[in-house]
Amino acid sequence: MQQTENFKKVISHAKEYGFIFQSSEIYDGLSAVYDYGQNGVALKKNIRDYWWKAMVQLHENIVGIDAAIFMHPTTWKASGHVDAFNDPLIDNKDSKKRYRADVLIEDYVAKIENKINKEISKAAKRFGTAFNKDQFLTTNPRVIDYQTKAKQIIKRMSRSIENEDLADVKALIEELEIACPESGSRNWTDVKQFNLMFGTKLGASVDSAMDLYLRPETAQGIFVNFLNVQKSGRMKLPFGIAQIGKAFRNEIVARQFIFRMREFEQMEMQFFIPPGTQKEWYEHWKEKRLKWHQSLGLGNEQYRFHDHEKLAHYADAATDIEFNFPFGFKELEGIHSRSDFDLGNHEKFAGKKLQYFDPERNENYVPYVVETSIGLDRMFLAVFSKSLTEETLKDGSSRTVLKLPTVLAPNQLAVFPLVKKDGLPEMARKIVDDLKWDFTVVYDEKDAVGRRYRRQDALGTPFCVTVDHQSIKDLTVTIRERDHMTQERIPIAALEKMLNEQLSMSELLKKL
Ligand code: ATP
Repeated sequence: MQQTENFKKVISHAKEYGFIFQSSEIYDGLSAVYDYGQNGVALKKNIRDYWWKAMVQLHENIVGIDAAIFMHPTTWKASGHVDAFNDPLIDNKDSKKRYRADVLIEDYVAKIENKINKEISKAAKRFGTAFNKDQFLTTNPRVIDYQTKAKQIIKRMSRSIENEDLADVKALIEELEIACPESGSRNWTDVKQFNLMFGTKLGASVDSAMDLYLRPETAQGIFVNFLNVQKSGRMKLPFGIAQIGKAFRNEIVARQFIFRMREFEQMEMQFFIPPGTQKEWYEHWKEKRLKWHQSLGLGNEQYRFHDHEKLAHYADAATDIEFNFPFGFKELEGIHSRSDFDLGNHEKFAGKKLQYFDPERNENYVPYVVETSIGLDRMFLAVFSKSLTEETLKDGSSRTVLKLPTVLAPNQLAVFPLVKKDGLPEMARKIVDDLKWDFTVVYDEKDAVGRRYRRQDALGTPFCVTVDHQSIKDLTVTIRERDHMTQERIPIAALEKMLNEQLSMSELLKKL
């Protein structure tokens, strides 16, 4: 995957403005591990809160838990992760670089797709308003050839990976003459399976230490606590358990910034339902989750569903909500109908019943599950990358503005004294002190006001208030809005109400 110019800007802006730093940067960093800085942590918290409120606070029948990262090792046998949480990897013998075999092939297919897109734009230019894209895609022989080739490659790759025919995955790489992106060499090793879980040890002495894994997903902490929560909370089906927490995967491909990290955060919800109702709940959660994304106003066309054609053996149905990242549409969230696979397997491995007595059906059964699973960091990247905008202003100058959904902005208000004298700083500080109880407010007196505006634009602060000499006389201030740069004079006493109206998460939640 090429890092586009746009993507590079996203990464450098995130660093320059204190959103995201490379982990242990002074030691040259740790690959695919990142730290959130002073502004990143606030944006991340706001995204987390928005998810938690929408999923837990607003649903009587969804509760939250916070399970430990360490879990009994048998958990991962029962979940299938020990045997099947693998990626096919291949090494280049010359460059010594390691790749995911499927990603090499997918990147090759992405190049074919780029060629199709180029043909489309050429034809669109040639035919002008008479251009019909659908017709072009189904009639132009060259484009049809490209499409057929792309489909065949993906089909063969999926089939071989599913059948664990790794020799054929290598054969495909060779037939397509895929070269190492780093060295251009086609000297490949065989394809091997690589388990993505990080291992560690519990206990001090070598003999008695127990092999553990860092959890690769948060979901299993929910499954093993199903009965604890159901009983202690007297929960009736259908009900959900939600959790936000760290997960760890020893990812091979690690060159997409916070899109694919080795330590990341997931926000997952398992919804427990009676068998036979999974279709209806799957559709329900698909719709609900898409609406949640769309409510943030980044543009409905930025999302699409990608239904899985090949399902895991236990799954009824699965789809990804894909987002238009700077490098194209990629998975942001998964919605999976998982049947009774997880609870059923934990029953087997633990030798304990994980069943529910359904008073309406008058029977015991292992509940079915529909899960929604989203990466918090990936969501951060979606919001951050789509909000970062370069604008040319009427006077020809340009500005960088982070048009974050206002409810997610790290700072909601910045307060400036016009000059550092005449009592203006004191008055500005008083405004900060009065509002800081309910809002995140920053004070800035450095540089000219124009530069202070630009600084807040780059951080995504929705409103800036300037205190000037008139403020002392009539207790009014100028409030300036980030996206349209409109300015208005309003009484200081009206600020709180205005901010409540404009920045309220509840108002957004009510629209869900
Ligand atoms: P991918 O196909 O991109 O590797 P996945 O299908 O393995 O993702 P799931 O296991 O379904 O992902 O995990 C659910 C969500 O967790 C994903 O939709 C994504 O948002 C997030 N996620 C998964 N792996 C990572 C990672 N390495 N870094 C950041 N977020 C991740």
